[in-house]
Amino acid sequence: MLTFDNRFLRELPGDPDTTNQLRQVFHACWSHAMPTSVSAPRMLAYSREMLEALELSVEDITSPDWVNALAGNSLLPGMQPYAMCYGGHQFGNWAGQLGDGRAISLGEAVNSKGQRWELQLKGAGVTPYSRMADGRAVLRSSVREFLCSEAMYHLGIPTTRALSLVQTGDVVIRDMFYNGNPQMEKGAIVCRVAPSFIRFGNFEIFAMRDDKQTLQTLVDFTIDRDFPELKDYPEEERFAEWFAIICVRTARLIAQWMRVGFVHGVMNTDNMSILGLTIDYGPYGWVDNFDPGWTPNTTDAAGRRYCFGRQPDIARWNLERLAQALHCLKPEREIYDEGLMLYDQTYNREWAAVLAAKFGFSAWRDEYEPLINEVFDLMYHADIDMTEFFRKLATIEASQPDLAHLQSASYSPALWETFKPRFEQWLSQYATATVADARDPATRTSSMNKVNPRYVLRNYLAQQAIDLADQGDTSMIEELLEVLRRPYDEQPGKERFAELRPEWAKHKAGCSMLSCSS
Ligand code: AMP
Ligand code: MG
Ligand code: MG
Repeated sequence: MLTFDNRFLRELPGDPDTTNQLRQVFHACWSHAMPTSVSAPRMLAYSREMLEALELSVEDITSPDWVNALAGNSLLPGMQPYAMCYGGHQFGNWAGQLGDGRAISLGEAVNSKGQRWELQLKGAGVTPYSRMADGRAVLRSSVREFLCSEAMYHLGIPTTRALSLVQTGDVVIRDMFYNGNPQMEKGAIVCRVAPSFIRFGNFEIFAMRDDKQTLQTLVDFTIDRDFPELKDYPEEERFAEWFAIICVRTARLIAQWMRVGFVHGVMNTDNMSILGLTIDYGPYGWVDNFDPGWTPNTTDAAGRRYCFGRQPDIARWNLERLAQALHCLKPEREIYDEGLMLYDQTYNREWAAVLAAKFGFSAWRDEYEPLINEVFDLMYHADIDMTEFFRKLATIEASQPDLAHLQSASYSPALWETFKPRFEQWLSQYATATVADARDPATRTSSMNKVNPRYVLRNYLAQQAIDLADQGDTSMIEELLEVLRRPYDEQPGKERFAELRPEWAKHKAGCSMLSCSS
């Protein structure tokens, strides 16, 4: 039996109003929020690894008690549902109070090892923060969040997790792909899980309202609960060290996104985890043809604020907003200057290490830079699939490089022909650098295959799983979940999940770009 120890509720000021009435909530970090019942909950999928972490059995999770709890129809002993109050900068502008408009935390589960896992239902109905929306989530976006959370975990990338995916039996109205035609879609709820769901925006809201007292209480709480490594720090250094750790973790996270071609799509400050986790899977996407300017978010198509290549800069901008919020508690500029400098240094160091590893070099050398710039430029202009390219590069023979070996990563035979001479030249320089690095070829291949995934959740694959689930067939969700548990391994019989995005999927709704409407 899981026990709950709801520290967020117990130790932080709450909103005395217990209704779901929309409102501005002041001097409080959370509001009571009871999930709204759904008509016919059905468990579509769950994560084995998450069950294990929570010390739950398959019998537990599939029992009526749990299915009802995970659908928001009832509570298990110890659960105390609430929604968090936070604000955020959206697309560069302060947006005021946002808060959990459709996420409801059930409480902080603690397992026998003392590990703390907050359980949070996404799509469980309205809260005081729902603004004009319905508090619900559609099957489409829930399948995407469920699969990608677990896929990221298996890729070794910090992320919030997903315990379960439950269909509600109710319909939800959505303007599906911003085409002006509202559609009925199936409703679903993901139970996501993380040690903490605190975001940059949780701090910003109090700073913006000049509520230093609540801000200070939240900072002390966060350091105490979520940063146990700071316990032994001398008190006068703790705050600066905390900010530094946030900067370092954020830098590491972004370098990992860049490594695998993940584009978050909505890096607003309310979608930035204080723990450096990937959080809020909305219109995210995976890079197919390499393009630093690509964004999966149709709402961002013109500005490309959150495109692939800008993620490192945007994360820094978001850290600057966090610094700005914390400044009213501790005005010493050095704290923030040093933290942000650490962000730059950590990102640059991690990215160099990622590049060395992706290209199979034993360590980073500055002389590799022109070589890598050249191939990224070529990959962009020649329409080359990022995932396939790096897997094929791993088995290039440095002593006898054969360009034809890389051709399977090309989306366009015509462009391949056009850029062939430049690719030949690049490959011969790359082979020379690889020979000079003098690594054993088998070691080189296997180490490259540990950082360059064979299987990622390509947008069109997720969409195929969604279309089937919409017809009542969850087999592809199961199959993807299974394949994505071992993303770096060759999996005989599963090659279809590693294929390049098919031509039909390039412009099909849901298969490349998505809107925020989920
Ligand atoms: P996002 O862009 O997904 O990070 O959402 C921004 C804000 O809108 C957050 O406060 C969400 O809780 C809220 N929100 C998004 N979708 C809904 C919905 N269907 N119902 C209520 N609130 C929502
Ligand atoms: Mg959000
Ligand atoms: Mg969202």
